[in-house]
Amino acid sequence: MADEHDLIILGSGSTAFAAALRAQSRGARVLMIEKSMLGGTCVNWGCIPSKTLIHAAQLYQDARFGARVGLGLHEEGVDFARLTDHKERVVGHLRQTRYLDILKNVPGLTLLRGTGRFLDPQTVEVEGQRIRGEKFLVATGGYPRIPPIPGLTEGDFLTSRSALLLKELPGSLVIIGGGVIALEMGQMYRRLGTSVTVLEHGPRVLPAVDGDVALAVQEALCGEGMEIVLDVTVCGVTHRNGATLVQCERGGAPVEFSAERLLVAVGTAPATAGIGLEEAGVELDPKGYVRVDERLRTSAPGIWAAGDVTGGMMIATAGAREGVVAVDDMLDPGCGCTMDHLSTPMAIFTDPEVGLVGHTEASAREAGYEVVSNTLPVFAIPKAHVTGQTAGIIKLVADSATGRILGAHLACHRGADIINEAALAVRFRLTVTDLANSLHVYPSMGEGLRLCAQGFDRDVNLLSCCAE
Ligand SMILES: Cc1cc2nc3c(=O)[nH]c(=O)nc-3n(C[C@H](O)[C@H](O)[C@H](O)COP(=O)(O)OP(=O)(O)OC[C@H]3O[C@@H](n4cnc5c(N)ncnc54)[C@H](O)[C@@H]3O)c2cc1C
Repeated sequence: MADEHDLIILGSGSTAFAAALRAQSRGARVLMIEKSMLGGTCVNWGCIPSKTLIHAAQLYQDARFGARVGLGLHEEGVDFARLTDHKERVVGHLRQTRYLDILKNVPGLTLLRGTGRFLDPQTVEVEGQRIRGEKFLVATGGYPRIPPIPGLTEGDFLTSRSALLLKELPGSLVIIGGGVIALEMGQMYRRLGTSVTVLEHGPRVLPAVDGDVALAVQEALCGEGMEIVLDVTVCGVTHRNGATLVQCERGGAPVEFSAERLLVAVGTAPATAGIGLEEAGVELDPKGYVRVDERLRTSAPGIWAAGDVTGGMMIATAGAREGVVAVDDMLDPGCGCTMDHLSTPMAIFTDPEVGLVGHTEASAREAGYEVVSNTLPVFAIPKAHVTGQTAGIIKLVADSATGRILGAHLACHRGADIINEAALAVRFRLTVTDLANSLHVYPSMGEGLRLCAQGFDRDVNLLSCCAE
C-alpha cells in the first residue's frame, strides 16, 4: 500500500472525519483506520445517545411543569425500552447519514478495519499489513478512565458508555465523580425516576467550571432530589446480592452508600497505549496525552494529532476543528493556521444548561488583564418566568480598560444556544457596550446576555420590561 494515500488517519471519530473531509476537499487521498465502531465516541456512545435521552428526560420534566400550571397532563410512567429503541434509531440514522454515507459517496476516502500501530514514523501496521505514508494524523480519542479503587473491578459497574446502553431503568444509582458526565447522566436518570447519589471528591461539583456557575447547577440538581455528597473519598467497592456498596471516608469518618447500579464517571483516559507512539517518536505529556503545538504538530515530523487524544477541550467541535487545522498545516505549511480554543464555546447539558466560552475571571487575570465582571441572576430575565425556568446565573468577564468581552459563563435554560452569541462576541472582540446596545428578541432567554451587559453600569431591576 506504499504511496497510495496522502494522509493516513488512526481513528474514524468526529475528529478523523472532519480532517479526512478537509484533506479530500484539498485533493488528498485519505485512509482512515478504525478498530471499533465507525464514527467513534460522539455518535455511538457520546453526544448523540446522551443528548437524545437527556432531551426525553427534559420533556418528562416539562410535562410535570405543564401539569402544575393546569394542563391536566398526568405522568404515565416511563417506558424505558421504547425510549432506548428511540435512542438507537437516532444513533443509527446519524451514523448512517453522517459517517457511512459520507464514506460511500465522497471519493478519495478509504476505511480500513483493524487496529493501527506505528512501527516507525512512516509505517503503520494494521492486522499484519504494513502501510507506508508521509503524513499521519493520530485521532484515536479516549475511553472512560477507571480509577484503581479496591474491589471495583471484581463486579459489575457502569461507565459513560454502558450507562447509555442500559435496557432497564435502575431503581437507584451511585455515581463516583461530580464532573460533566456524572451530572448530565445523573440528572437524566433522576428525572426518569432513578434515585441518584453523586460522590464528589472535591468541595464542589464541576471543578473545571466557574464556581458560581457550578454552584447554581448544584443547587438546581439538589432541588430535583439528587443527593450530592462533597468532600468524600471513595475507599472501596463491594458487590453483594445484586447491589453495590461504596465505602467512603468523609470528614475523618467512614460512610457507606449503596445502590442497585454504580456509575464510574471520573474522566477520560487517552487512547495512546500500545499504538507505537514511542517507536514513531511522538512525545506524550505526563498524563499520557499526545503533546501538540497550536498547529497540532507532534514531536515527530510528519505526524499530527487532534481531538480527545490530545487532552484539549475534549468536545466534538473542538476536535473536528483541530483536525481541520492539522490538515491545513500539513498540506499548506505556510498557512499559519492555528487552533483558537479561547473562542470555542462548550456546553454541559444539565438543566439549567451550562455554557462556557473564553476566559474566567481567574484566567483573564493570569493573562494580564485588569478584570471587571457582572453576574445576572436568571430570575431577572422575563422569559424565565414564562417558562418557569428561573434557576441559574449569567456572568460576563471583561477587560476593564477597553470593555472588551473576554469570557461568558452561564447556567441557564437554553444556555447551550445562548453561549453561541457570546462566542461571537469573544471571537470578534466585541465590548460590553456593543452587547448592551444590541437589541434582542423579547421575551427570550438570549436577552439575558444583553441584560447582563447592561448591568455593568445600570441597575437592570430599574429597566422597563423591554430592557430600555
Ligand atoms: C457521554 C459523553 C457525552 C458527550 N457529549 C458531548 C456533547 O454533547 N458535545 C460535544 O461536543 N462533545 C461531547 N462529548 C465528547 C465527544 O464525544 C468527544 O470529544 C469526541 O467524540 C472525540 O472525538 P475523537 O474523534 O477525537 O475521538 P473518538 O470519537 O473517541 O474516536 C477515536 C476512534 O479511534 C479508534 N481507535 C482508537 N485507537 C485505534 C487504533 N489503534 N487503530 C484504529 N482505530 C483506533 C476508536 O475506536 C474510535 O472510534 C461527549 C462524550 C461522552 C463520553
